[in-house]
Amino acid sequence: MDYNKIIKNLPKVDLHCHLDGSLRPQTIIDIAVKENIDIPTKELKEFEKYVKVFGECDSLKDYLDKFELPIKVMQNKKNIYRITSELLEDVSKDNVKYIEIRFAPFNHIQKGLKAEDVIEAAIEAMKDGRKKYGVMSNLILCAMRHESVESSKRLVEIGKKYLGKGVAAVDLAGNEHDFPPEIHKEAFDLAQKYGFHCTIHAGETGIEQNIIKSIEMLHAERIGHGVYAFKDEKVVKYLKDRQIPLEMCITSNIDTKAVKDYEFHPIKKYLDEGLVVTVNTDNMTVSNVSLNDEFNHLVKEQNFTLEDIKKVVKNGIEASFASEDDKDILRKQYEKALEIL
Ligand SMILES: [Zn+2]
Repeated sequence: MDYNKIIKNLPKVDLHCHLDGSLRPQTIIDIAVKENIDIPTKELKEFEKYVKVFGECDSLKDYLDKFELPIKVMQNKKNIYRITSELLEDVSKDNVKYIEIRFAPFNHIQKGLKAEDVIEAAIEAMKDGRKKYGVMSNLILCAMRHESVESSKRLVEIGKKYLGKGVAAVDLAGNEHDFPPEIHKEAFDLAQKYGFHCTIHAGETGIEQNIIKSIEMLHAERIGHGVYAFKDEKVVKYLKDRQIPLEMCITSNIDTKAVKDYEFHPIKKYLDEGLVVTVNTDNMTVSNVSLNDEFNHLVKEQNFTLEDIKKVVKNGIEASFASEDDKDILRKQYEKALEIL
């Protein structure tokens, strides 16, 4: 069976992709040159070492350092539009039909932009990208763990205006070790009141109890990663009983040393145990990975069968925060692709 071809031909969704982790390296160089932004080198191959981990990374902190240069070139509307548009073009080549793009708007106001400008620039590119590349999308606004709950509440208030008009959800991202989810409870209560969907990074770096906390205290409908659920059987059972989707990103988990190697990732075990598993990229540039690469790894290193692939793609469609109309489009595209597999 030609898995490579099957993976390529299946229409897919990516529910966990950070915009600032998925820039084309050449775009960063281009913008830096044009806007006199200091970068260590203009030579592409050499520059890539500063924005990709290539599997060599000591910790999540090391991994997060790779976002520094991308964020520097994401400080005006034109660049944010370009970067969002290029991401949609790139994923269209992997036959991704729907993507939830996440980022923290407050990381992009260093040169005078308002958070509203940041969100609007991305939404504009997403609207155009749907027509141009046939990729539907929604934004997920990330609150950052190390920021105050007031900052997270401000984000929710700002994002409210765009809810259902390009913004679908809120997330909590960043250093999970030092900042437990409950710090931001008030902001996520507010988000729930306003009707945001909610997904939270939890159980990515060893603290499996953050998974249940995120669901019960912060109203998470999905969990970003959730890798460490296996440390406590009760957490696995909890996820299974409630059918909470996990946004799994295997290459990223290896890069951050959350998991030793592809073969040790718990994704297949979770799938076989009846958990709702989805497959995503996290950071296409930092982790040097595309969605098709991720699926190919699963076939090669985790013995994913055709049924497994079909299941996780379908899980992704159903777990997405797309509107019912868009979900119907995705379901039809998926069914049609199965007929000719
Ligand atoms: Zn993430």
